[in-house]
Amino acid sequence: MHRIARYAHTMVRFTVLASGSKGNCTVVTGGRTRILVDAGLSCREIFRRMKLADEEPGTLDAIVVTHEHQDHVNGLAVTARKLGIPVYFTEGTHRAWMRWLTPRRQMTYAQWLEQCRKQAAARQAEDDADGVEGEPDEGDGLAETYGATDLMARAVEAEPMVPAKEPTWLPAVEYFQAGRAFQIGDIAVSPFTIPHDAADPVGFVLQAEGVRMGVATDLGYMPPNVKAQLKGLDLLLLESNHDLEMLRDGPYPWSVKQRVLSRVGHLSNDAASEFLKKEYDGQATYVILAHLSESNNLPELARVAAERALEGRASLLANQLLLAEQHQPLSPVYF
Ligand SMILES: [Zn+2]
Ligand SMILES: [Zn+2]
Repeated sequence: MHRIARYAHTMVRFTVLASGSKGNCTVVTGGRTRILVDAGLSCREIFRRMKLADEEPGTLDAIVVTHEHQDHVNGLAVTARKLGIPVYFTEGTHRAWMRWLTPRRQMTYAQWLEQCRKQAAARQAEDDADGVEGEPDEGDGLAETYGATDLMARAVEAEPMVPAKEPTWLPAVEYFQAGRAFQIGDIAVSPFTIPHDAADPVGFVLQAEGVRMGVATDLGYMPPNVKAQLKGLDLLLLESNHDLEMLRDGPYPWSVKQRVLSRVGHLSNDAASEFLKKEYDGQATYVILAHLSESNNLPELARVAAERALEGRASLLANQLLLAEQHQPLSPVYF
């Protein structure tokens, strides 16, 4: 009841559906607008977790993407198609994502037309055969929305050389650039560059109804531009990926350890704490530790490190510490 009463009066909500190397996804509601930040779970799992957290998938307006790593885009295409909503990328991330999904191939125009025809027929046959809910996560669900023939027509209209079942097809793509704020409905989005081994990775500050929420995961270290962005926040989602000793002694091969530890890898508990202790302005109501490694970290280690760093500054009104989880959504945070 408490939650419903509050919801009636609040317009800003932040729900981490999942966080970690097996999938990242957060729902942000501001005013009349609702967006997903990353779609790193399967579409089905995103919808399931949204419902668990009292979020309605059908009301999503857009998906914004931090970078093209699989744990951030796993359900991206299926989710965007199902809901018919636009995806916001940097151009570099979009291109890298398309490369990742597109197998190398060469075909003539005639071959391509033939492929379209076959895929449309196959899709039609599938539809006729089952016509039930709950298609597999890998299925793209396009036919549900448009019908196979219609879909082929659309693909042809949009881009003559894109086959109908092109895995990179999206209802709409919008480009943004790091350093240039843009608006999605009632939510202002300020993307900033982060140091990470992806094509053009970004973090975000999202602002709605005067509430500022920072999203900073997947970064090798905290460069000055990131520190500068993470000021005056009401909520900070901050990576606390690994414990240095657990990583060093843990199961990963040496090359992977090097990657995680590098300046374009992931933020350790120590690095997150260092930031919280020395640079963070202490203004957020909520600090959510995120992208915790399941192999090289323990929630208690991350929590204790952050608590020490925030010492004296944590209270019911400020710096409430939460830990985002991989396998279940975090209770929604309301403003
Ligand atoms: Zn990640
Ligand atoms: Zn990443």
